[in-house]
Amino acid sequence: MTRAFNFSAGPATLPESVLRQAQAEMLEWNGAGASIVEMSHRGPEFIAVAAEADADLRRLIGIPDDYAVLFLAGGATTQQALLALNFASPGQTVDYVLTGHWGKTAIKQVSPYVRVNVAASSEANGFHDIPPRDQWQLSHDAAYVHITANETIHGVEFRDTPDVGNVPLFADFSSSIASEPLDVSRYGLIYAGAQKNLGPVGVSVVIVRRDLLERSGQPRADIFDYRSHVARDSMLNTPPTWNWYLAGLVFKWMLAEGGVEEFARRNAAKSALVYGAIDASGGFYRNEVVPAARSRMNIPFFLPDETLTARFVSESKAAGLLALKGHKAVGGIRASLYNALPVEGAQALAGFMRDFQQRNG
Ligand SMILES: *Cc1c(COP(=O)(O)O)cnc(C)c1O
Repeated sequence: MTRAFNFSAGPATLPESVLRQAQAEMLEWNGAGASIVEMSHRGPEFIAVAAEADADLRRLIGIPDDYAVLFLAGGATTQQALLALNFASPGQTVDYVLTGHWGKTAIKQVSPYVRVNVAASSEANGFHDIPPRDQWQLSHDAAYVHITANETIHGVEFRDTPDVGNVPLFADFSSSIASEPLDVSRYGLIYAGAQKNLGPVGVSVVIVRRDLLERSGQPRADIFDYRSHVARDSMLNTPPTWNWYLAGLVFKWMLAEGGVEEFARRNAAKSALVYGAIDASGGFYRNEVVPAARSRMNIPFFLPDETLTARFVSESKAAGLLALKGHKAVGGIRASLYNALPVEGAQALAGFMRDFQQRNG
C-alpha cells in the first residue's frame, strides 16, 4: 500500500497514525468487546471519549472557560443559519464582511431572518483581497460582525483578527482552525466543520462565549437552540459518535506533534514552498490573491490554458499528488495544505510544478 499526498479541499487528508489507530480499534475499542461506533452515547465509554475530545480541543486551541464548546451533527452551513436564529432578533441588522464563496453562503443562510449589512466586500475585484478595516461600514446596532477567516475556494485568509469594538466578532474557521495560534477571547463565536483541519466530515465544532447564549434570538425549535445543546453536552441528537471519536484522535495527534505553534511553522513552510514555485515560474503559474491576503491553507493557481491545466491534473495524480483540480467556481488548480498534509507533500508538489513547467513551459 502507498498512501499518496492528498491535497483535497475537504473531506481532506487525515494523519496516517490516526487512521491506523482507528483501524486497530474498529472491531473492539479498548477491551470493551465492541467498537466505539456500536456503543451508546450515554455509556461511560463514549462519555469519556467525548469529554477527552473536549478537554484536548480546549488545550490545543487555548479555549477559555467562559466559552462553551459544542460538537454537533450538521455542517458549517447549518451553523451559519443558526447564528441568526440564536443571536439576532427578528429583522435585526447583522454585519457581514464578504471575502469569497463561503461568505456568500453565510449571508444566504441568515437572509430569511435578519437584515444583512454587507459591511465590506472584495467581490468587485474577484475576491482577491481583504478589504482594509478602515473601509468597513459597520452598523451601530449590529447583533454581530461575521467574517470568513479563510476562504477555502478563493484562497484568501485574514492574517490578523480585525478590531470591531464591542460588537461580538463571529468567524467561520472551517478551513483554518488549529492551523496557528488563535486568541479565542477576541471572538464571540467560532465555528468550523471538521472535515478540513480537525477530522472527518459529519461533525462541526462551535466555540461560543457563554454570555452570548443569554440572548433571546428568534423563535426557534429546541433543536436549533445552542443553549439546549450546551445544556445537554452536545447530545440533544444522538451525536455523530464515530466522527467525534476520530476528531478526538486528531486532537491528540496535534498535541503530540507540538500543538498549534508547530503546525503554524509547518503550514508557513508548506505554503512558502508552493507560493515560491508559483512566484518563481515567470508567470507560467498565476495566483491572483494579493500577497498579504494569501491563504496558507488553500492555494488556487492557474496555468496558461485549459489543455495544460487538464494535463497538470492527470500527470500530478499519476505522480501520487491527489485532488489538485480547482473548484468549479474558479477553475484552475487548488492545493489544500491542511495540518495533516506533511511538509514532504508540499515539497513534492513544488518539485512537480517545476518539472512540469520545464517540460511544458
Ligand atoms: C467547507 C466549508 C464550509 C461548508 O461546510 P459544510 O460542512 O459542508 O456545510 C463552510 N465554510 C467554509 C470556510 C468551508 O471551508
